[in-house]
Amino acid sequence: MNLGVVRGIEEWSFETDVLVVGGGGCGLAAGVAAARGGVEAIVLEKQSKPWSNTARSGGMIPAAGTRFQRGVGIEETAEDFAEDIFRKNHYTSDREMTLHMARTASRMVEWLVDAAGVDLVFIDDFKYPGHREFRMHAPPSRTGAALVADLRRAVEAHPNAELVIDAPAVGLAADDGSEVIGVIVQRGERQEAVKCKKVILACNGFAGNKEMVAEYCPEIVEALYFGGEGNTGEGILWGMELGGKAAFMDAYQAHASVAVPHGILITYALVMEGGFQVNADGRRFGNESSGYSEHALAVLDQPDGAAWDIYDRRLHLLGLQFEDYRQALEVDAIAQAETIEELAQKLKLPPKALAGTLASYNAAASGEQEDLFGRADCRLLEAPYFGVKVTGALFHTQGGLEVDFNARVLRQDGTPVPNLYAGGGVAAGLSGHGPGGYLSGNGLLTALGYGMLAGQHAAESIGGGK
Ligand SMILES: Cc1cc2nc3c(=O)[nH]c(=O)nc-3n(C[C@H](O)[C@H](O)[C@H](O)COP(=O)(O)OP(=O)(O)OC[C@H]3O[C@@H](n4cnc5c(N)ncnc54)[C@H](O)[C@@H]3O)c2cc1C
Repeated sequence: MNLGVVRGIEEWSFETDVLVVGGGGCGLAAGVAAARGGVEAIVLEKQSKPWSNTARSGGMIPAAGTRFQRGVGIEETAEDFAEDIFRKNHYTSDREMTLHMARTASRMVEWLVDAAGVDLVFIDDFKYPGHREFRMHAPPSRTGAALVADLRRAVEAHPNAELVIDAPAVGLAADDGSEVIGVIVQRGERQEAVKCKKVILACNGFAGNKEMVAEYCPEIVEALYFGGEGNTGEGILWGMELGGKAAFMDAYQAHASVAVPHGILITYALVMEGGFQVNADGRRFGNESSGYSEHALAVLDQPDGAAWDIYDRRLHLLGLQFEDYRQALEVDAIAQAETIEELAQKLKLPPKALAGTLASYNAAASGEQEDLFGRADCRLLEAPYFGVKVTGALFHTQGGLEVDFNARVLRQDGTPVPNLYAGGGVAAGLSGHGPGGYLSGNGLLTALGYGMLAGQHAAESIGGGK
């Protein structure tokens, strides 16, 4: 149910300071930040289980200049980080906002650890595609589930904050103008109008809403959707109804390597560090290292939208660092063999063709010939070989409402919609257009970054702690 923006409400169930719509990364960060700012914050979560995109993610949070990054001897600036974001999106994201979020990132990561008690380690054994430096911070398990568990604990432990599950927001309440004054919440059979001073929309984008995906990102509408079911776009629609400006609505993150039929993410590290992909004919079909997001469309163009990741033991050992990969191994999604022909048989691929593809790829890796698809980072693969059947999937959308430096939703004329904030997938991202501009980490950067900024600003403008 979506009631949109409702006016003329006379009866309120109760009143609070800040209502946060959505209990994923953005919403939980916003809840902690607002509560720590001295105001009451209630986080409303649609679902009964915290199975948001943040919980499904790898929990990789990018930031340059943190004490963790300096601790391993890396000195780099937020501007270096922003430059990598720009390079990936071909300089199409909002320049000032991209710099602002890159500058916010180190403060956000240290705030997560120091203020919210999130357990993060610095990742210095795998450089994500497009990042010139190691700059990912993640829970020790490298899972978003651990990140959400820590943030949830922080909300639940704070006397000013509360997380309410099974509580979908079904509309926003506004006064006669466009001032936001509350949220309509579905509680079982009945609806409650809750009055508040500020609303933070943290209910992600529209990747779980086929109609909206068909409208804004039609080329990916038939792909497997790999994110949370709750992400159906209402936050963006409400903001637009209130005059908020939406931007980059065609932007999204896809992924070229989700195991089928198991539906388990196979880390793209296997490909970026030297593996390749073939189709059902045992032949490569593009430059896999162009990026996992844009390459998903090439996978989906293959017969049955299927591809096979082909790699060797060195990469298998790298994969074993990832929980998802270990799961894939446990459910027999991964095949291994002493020869490439034997691997082809196990994967039901034509052995001769796969052997020919490997020979040609290895020739490029050893500099004997140019790679057929212009890939510059081919690495020699050696027996034993490994392989897994995958497809391309939609992870989340990156377009949404334009916000200011404090995550306040902006109208067409650049003025803020009174009392309304947005972050994560509800806000316009930093990934330019289409699937190709997404740099790993852009998702959690804007979810946790805007969440912290929105919560802090909302508390401050209410006068929390005074
Ligand atoms: C498999 C996978 C791996 C990823 N790995 C990474 C990574 O390592 N690093 C990275 O930066 N990004 C990663 N991403 C992207 C990242 O997960 C998202 O960009 C980020 O989690 C978005 O956070 P969010 O808070 O906006 O949304 P979410 O975490 O999805 O939270 C939104 C919450 O709002 C709830 N909700 C929706 N509508 C309502 C409503 N009306 N009322 C109440 N609640 C509502 C939803 O149920 C959901 O719980 C990954 C994504 C996927 C799918």
